[in-house]
Amino acid sequence: MKRRFFLGLAANYPGDEIFAHTFMVGRKEDLTDLKSFLLKRYGGEKAILTKNGRSALTLALQAYFEPGDQILVNGFTCYAVYEAVKAAKLEPVFVDISLNDLNFTTTTLGAAFETNSAIRDTTKETESTAEKTNPTTNMIKGIIIQNTLGNPVDIVAIEKFAAEHGLTIIEDLAHSAGVKYIDGREVGTVGAATVLSFGKEKSIDTVAGGALVLRQPCKNTIEAPNKLPRLRDHLRARLYPFFGLVCRKLTTIHLGGVLMKILLKIHLVERSADSKLDLKRRLSKFEAKRALMQIKGLSRAGEKPLRNFYLVHDRDKLLAELKEAGYYFDGFWYEKPVSPVRYYKKVHFPEKDCRNAVYAAEHIINIPKYYRKKNLEPAIKIIEKYLEEKA
Ligand SMILES: *Cc1c(COP(=O)(O)O)cnc(C)c1O
Repeated sequence: MKRRFFLGLAANYPGDEIFAHTFMVGRKEDLTDLKSFLLKRYGGEKAILTKNGRSALTLALQAYFEPGDQILVNGFTCYAVYEAVKAAKLEPVFVDISLNDLNFTTTTLGAAFETNSAIRDTTKETESTAEKTNPTTNMIKGIIIQNTLGNPVDIVAIEKFAAEHGLTIIEDLAHSAGVKYIDGREVGTVGAATVLSFGKEKSIDTVAGGALVLRQPCKNTIEAPNKLPRLRDHLRARLYPFFGLVCRKLTTIHLGGVLMKILLKIHLVERSADSKLDLKRRLSKFEAKRALMQIKGLSRAGEKPLRNFYLVHDRDKLLAELKEAGYYFDGFWYEKPVSPVRYYKKVHFPEKDCRNAVYAAEHIINIPKYYRKKNLEPAIKIIEKYLEEKA
């Protein structure tokens, strides 16, 4: 039997793209071209190109909210989102998800509102009853729409909910660039601001980078980053697809894995979650060029989900069985309600309010869309044996 090995890291760049990526020369115009394209596609006042997605998200939050404001965040997410919320001096309110699409719904949003006002009421017991019952004491001012793994939220219901509660919508397209909502609108054309990540395995992947489109007038002025990217960040982004190729070519998973570990150790490769937030540095010119090519290539009919997900019982046993068959997963989205696990403790996640998110993190397995269907067939068969029956 031919063994196939999937490395979670560096698995998704086809050969010809690796060459183009490594040697691509960017020009100043690539930055302005990308900005104009983003403005045309998403509509808006201003586009800003950033070092990564979390820096773009931080700037978006600074532009529309005040320090101390609370913001609704999908309770099944990446640490980058939490980091951006904190960097903008806002407080995240994590909202539980539906197990059908891993997104919050108006029901779970309503529950988060209630829990939150209950907490406020008990802390305000000594204050006047007028203040207690006054809905304006609620500090929830915004909502980040995530479209988890490329599954669109029920935008019609959520837009209505946001309007009723006076919430400003920020759309985070890290998972969902090119996806269409059920009412036919494209993601990124609804909220006050649209945030993109161009990081590894995101829907636009130039290894690193981010962008922000300010669609509605800002409350606060923000400064667009203008410093050049650091040389070592630039090199890491340049070489990552090449290193990935070398790791994959090392025929056994063992050697490829070992090399990847060494590259991580000597910081020639960086784990996505460890990318530093930086509001001063802009996107590299060659990344702008690559991002523009990819955005232009998004399907007009709407992109498929970024990762197909399954909820399975006994995931450890399944992963072992997959490995036996030559399928090696070294990461799935997400292993904790706020991932990766090494940052989870910092977050103080409200597990008892977000039971579905906790459940999903323990039972999920998902497969990036860049694998060929044919190569995956044996793996899917194995997975299907383990499928959780939906309650
Ligand atoms: C990855 C990610 C981001 C931003 O990531 P960067 O690594 O900073 O580019 C934002 N939101 C979500 C949901 C993500 O998964």
